[in-house]
Amino acid sequence: MDSRIVLPVSEPGQRLDRLLEVIRLLGTSLNLETFLDTLISTASELTGCEVASILELDEGGKQLRFTATPWFHRDLLKGIKVPLDTSLAGFALQNGQPVVAPDVSAESRHFKGADQAARFATRSLMAVPIIYHGEKLGVLEVVNKLEQTDYTEEDRIILETLASQAAMALQNLRLVARVKTSQDQITQLDRMKSSFIGIASHELRTPLGLILGYSTFLREIIQPDYRPQLDIIHRNAMRLKEIIDNLANMDNLQRGVASVRVHTISIRRLVEEVVDSFQSEANHKRLTLRFDPPQNDLIVEGDSPKITIALGNVVTNAITFTNPGGHIDVVAESIPGHVKVSVIDNGIGIPANDLPQIFDRFYQVESHLTRKHGGMGLGLSVSKVMIEMHGGRIWAESMEGKGSTFTFLIPVKSDRVVLSGDPSIPDKL
Ligand code: ADP
Repeated sequence: MDSRIVLPVSEPGQRLDRLLEVIRLLGTSLNLETFLDTLISTASELTGCEVASILELDEGGKQLRFTATPWFHRDLLKGIKVPLDTSLAGFALQNGQPVVAPDVSAESRHFKGADQAARFATRSLMAVPIIYHGEKLGVLEVVNKLEQTDYTEEDRIILETLASQAAMALQNLRLVARVKTSQDQITQLDRMKSSFIGIASHELRTPLGLILGYSTFLREIIQPDYRPQLDIIHRNAMRLKEIIDNLANMDNLQRGVASVRVHTISIRRLVEEVVDSFQSEANHKRLTLRFDPPQNDLIVEGDSPKITIALGNVVTNAITFTNPGGHIDVVAESIPGHVKVSVIDNGIGIPANDLPQIFDRFYQVESHLTRKHGGMGLGLSVSKVMIEMHGGRIWAESMEGKGSTFTFLIPVKSDRVVLSGDPSIPDKL
């Protein structure tokens, strides 16, 4: 008994409608795999064949694999590789021409592996190449013409039309796969970078702590003749400590283990302390670092160490990027709902092109290889996260050659912060 399903072969007008429907579907279909399934069922229906499938050239370019098959063949044909050199589909692709085989038993090039895997008997087939802008992507084939008729010119045109649609779908699938691979690589690189930052900051801390500890001790007891040399060691170890602190802060922020613990604090006092701590560094570089304290205490609910780090990074930059003889003014004032802090320098300034990026991680205006200043391009990104954790905002205005102003706002009261000692709030933000 013949168990083949005999599909009604549609009338020419209906065929055109079906073709147009598939063409329209490509533009609207969100799922390309489903689209390819529709495409092969349309191909078999319109050519009056038992089944149709799409084979795609694999990465090595030597084999084809089944990308779309009827559902009852899907699992059986999943891992099957169709060799390009010894298959009719491969022949169609290599020559860029349709292949018609009314009786495959007469074809030495017919590949029997797929039939064996799917427990299927291919008697006849027509295969057309799927080509996108000259690039050979795969093959669309229909198998077993029903009612024992021959493949017609019309069948070929139908298949070529559908193959051109398949070309776009396959190309889109490839692009999606490429984007996904790039995204995975970026995620992987980001993870590696994060773990490098974590390990480096952790491992560098202990030896640096010892250098700083002993240099401080030696400064107390060493003969005055050697004091300048020891000061250089100490100053540079402090600089290294800043870099490592920034790395560690970034690592904590990225891992989400940093949280804001707020207390009632005076921004005026905080700024005074930060400015005092940088005074000797500024003097050393012959810079005037000024803070004219306001009358008001400028009270906010905030995390004092985090605001100190944020301001410290901005002041460090002002000192680094202002030439000797220059000046840096720190201004703190109250505005409705916020306290505003600005650090104004008359240093080298920032080119307008770079200004939008300076708060990005690892961004530096000058290439790391050519610049004479140290740093890792992390300071401002740390400041930004710390201010934003308070529900605040930080920005920069600058003119190249004239100077820069960095300003941040801290809300007097913020609903985004974690209140210290509240047990219901987890340690992660
Ligand atoms: P870095 O550790 O390199 O200082 P930052 O994130 O703190 O990294 O700053 C990023 C870049 O922004 C700096 O490398 C510098 O090019 C520029 N920049 C920051 N502050 C100033 C400033 N006050 N004047 C001029 N350029 C600045």
